[in-house]
Amino acid sequence: MDYDIAGRWAVVCAASRGLGYGCAEALAAQGVNLVINARTPEALETAAEALRRSAPGVEVRTVPGDIGTGEVQGELLEACPQVDILVNNAGGPPAGDFRDWGSEAWSSALRQNMLTPVELIKATVDSMAERGFGRIVNITSSSVKAPIAALGLSNGARSGLTGFVAGIARQPRLASRNVTINNLLPGSFATRRLTDSLEAGSRDSGRDVEELAREARQEIPAGRFGTPEEFGAACAFLCSAQAGYVTGQNLLIDGGAYPGTF
Ligand code: NAP
Repeated sequence: MDYDIAGRWAVVCAASRGLGYGCAEALAAQGVNLVINARTPEALETAAEALRRSAPGVEVRTVPGDIGTGEVQGELLEACPQVDILVNNAGGPPAGDFRDWGSEAWSSALRQNMLTPVELIKATVDSMAERGFGRIVNITSSSVKAPIAALGLSNGARSGLTGFVAGIARQPRLASRNVTINNLLPGSFATRRLTDSLEAGSRDSGRDVEELAREARQEIPAGRFGTPEEFGAACAFLCSAQAGYVTGQNLLIDGGAYPGTF
């Protein structure tokens, strides 16, 4: 299907690898020009080169730096001629015991996973409405629906973003102007983040990483981890012209891992 978004511009945050890269790649395949970001300049340039090779007609610009800073947010917006599509993403907060987290840990998690998306939405959404087209996708987590105790910082910050989005996505001045805001909730995807957490689990338990990975896969009805390409495909659909009637939703992509009816 032609998603009818070729020639549009997207800002994709935290996109040098993993789920953010998967979203950038799927949008580029639809002919969307990109401004991508990540902290490590070399990895970001390598990702941009790969995107240019995968979609030769598409323009790819890069803005290195921490997306949690106002300066980098400003540079991203400046680098994009007009933001038609915004994919909010950042690294996830560390796992741990809530008794060990002070205000610094909370500020960092809230800044990365709640306040940064809120700022970028605030900066872009009204001009999207004026132009009559806008697509915002926030990468959150399945932990919003099924909290993971050790990921309390993530559960808290992402739930805050989810509540915020639920309210504003339904504002008639946005929804009636073809501006949609949705959240994508990844379950377990084969990315560096997952590898890092399996390795941490292995260090803590003294068990083999592959054994832990096998157990994790067995808990997923699909019997495997998801791929960034599958994640990106869902993102591209939500950004398509055809998805204009889908807003304020939380879409789990988790191979059936969440056991509830709703
Ligand atoms: P990943 O493979 O580790 O990739 C993270 C990307 O974000 C990299 O490009 C990284 O590049 C960039 N990044 C990290 N912190 C950043 C910052 N402060 N500013 C700008 N860029 C930053 O992780 P992932 O699996 O794609 O995860 C993406 C998000 O989904 C995370 O918030 C994660 O918690 C969440 N999530 C993932 C899963 C999963 O199974 N993979 C499940 C649930 C939720 P640099 O390091 O160079 O900045």
